[in-house]
Amino acid sequence: MPENTPKVDCRSAMQQLWDYVDGELTPERMTAVQRHLGECAHCVPHAEFAERFLAALHETRDVRCCPQDLRSRVVAKLKEAGLTVD
Ligand SMILES: [Zn+2]
Repeated sequence: MPENTPKVDCRSAMQQLWDYVDGELTPERMTAVQRHLGECAHCVPHAEFAERFLAALHETRDVRCCPQDLRSRVVAKLKEAGLTVD
């Protein structure tokens, strides 16, 4: 394992999950989160759900006036429901 790869535990992975599926993390963090998701049975279902959710959201982007606002509200709802660990 490269020395400069950040350590990622479940809490950290969930906190970075939405940025991860959006591809907004640094390459080092993308790799670190990806590695955690590849070996953690607890986090994989959350990641799969997030990816499916965003894929569906992107498909509806053209018919929504405020996709970013919609996304923020839905993500907030999902966090309220305990999908991610804050
Ligand atoms: Zn985990």
